[in-house]
Amino acid sequence: MIRVNPNYSKLQASYLFSTIARKVSEFQAGNPDKDIIKLGIGDVTHGLPPACIDAMHKAVDEMAVDGTFRGYGPEQGYDFLREAIAQRDFASRGVDIAAEEVFVSDGAKCDSGNIQELFAQDARIAVPDPVYPVYVDTNVMAGRTGEWQDGRYSGLVYLESTEDNHYVPGLPSEPVDLIYLCFPNNPTGATVTHDELKTWVDYARANKALILFDAAYEAFIRDDSLPHSIYEVEGAKEVAVEFRSFSKTAGFTGTRCAYTIVPHACRVFDGSGNAQELHALWNRRHTTKFNGVSYPVQRAAEAVFSADGQAQITALNDGYLRNAAHIREQVSALGYSFAGGENSPYIWIKTGEDSWDFFDRLLNEAAVVTTPGAGFGACGQGYIRISAFNDFAKVEEAMQRIAGVLGK
Ligand code: PLP
Repeated sequence: MIRVNPNYSKLQASYLFSTIARKVSEFQAGNPDKDIIKLGIGDVTHGLPPACIDAMHKAVDEMAVDGTFRGYGPEQGYDFLREAIAQRDFASRGVDIAAEEVFVSDGAKCDSGNIQELFAQDARIAVPDPVYPVYVDTNVMAGRTGEWQDGRYSGLVYLESTEDNHYVPGLPSEPVDLIYLCFPNNPTGATVTHDELKTWVDYARANKALILFDAAYEAFIRDDSLPHSIYEVEGAKEVAVEFRSFSKTAGFTGTRCAYTIVPHACRVFDGSGNAQELHALWNRRHTTKFNGVSYPVQRAAEAVFSADGQAQITALNDGYLRNAAHIREQVSALGYSFAGGENSPYIWIKTGEDSWDFFDRLLNEAAVVTTPGAGFGACGQGYIRISAFNDFAKVEEAMQRIAGVLGK
């Protein structure tokens, strides 16, 4: 008899974005003439940078000819891309990451979800609250939690990110082995300073813990004082893995290319407390279960680092940040307190009422889709997230409609 993994029954049935999609389609069915503006799911809306498209076209042509055709590539990514990443994303900021420590993949979602399988079943896991749900759900699937009780899974340590700590959680009060951090944060839009990050790195070093640092929104950082990578903190290479993605950086959400940094110095421990290189374990997993990102997509990703590519992604993301600034101004004028939107495409708004009620009000009365904060964790109750991924004109109109509803 083939039995299912019992851990799957612990998962919460309705995934946040499917519930939103159902509510939106119900509203649209009842109001077919309403033009709904979507500022909910964090998907980009603009076309790929021309430099990436040119590179992809060229690579597609190469694939048509026997002499330049490529079959299976290296699972970890082509050297041309790994080297460009090491040079342009790290060496340029004074961080020494070798090309060999870069693992190219088809998404930060898969990587941040898959990496937990390298760790012991009884690893004590700390997750932020509110949180990008992938970190939690993949540990539930793996059986590292108990049941869902009162809006949380037993057995996880929740790192509360609240207005009081400016959405940067403090150290846990009980021992943990694996710590998920994400900055600029989804969903709060909060950023982390070098000193705050150092507190976590020092904790991990002192407690033989590991930090999984998700920097999927790094490209939105404009404040020069903020770290772009956890490896800007001394000693972090021993205790941190970093996830990056071209999804939000360069509009690759549908094209799919990301990468994970696992430094050789990064250590984990066997049952006797002996240190091992995490790099070797991730390399083993990656080469066993993944067969590489397609050649044209890796060439498109490489083009992000060209002079044209850099200018184009800066303009692209400046556009989204301009939307974010407009949302911030309007929300502020309406008298709501909020976080994010300055070095991040997300604005996290304190609603003063139930998240889903507020979401329903904006959908039903303004025909604007946001994301209820409660869907990201208990600490998200009373908040909504507005995403800046859309055209400026749409964002302007959405904010006018929202002001019409909330300003009453
Ligand atoms: N990490 C965070 C924090 C995200 O918000 C997202 C997407 O929304 C991802 C990772 C997924 O990135 P990718 O498209 O590379 O899978």
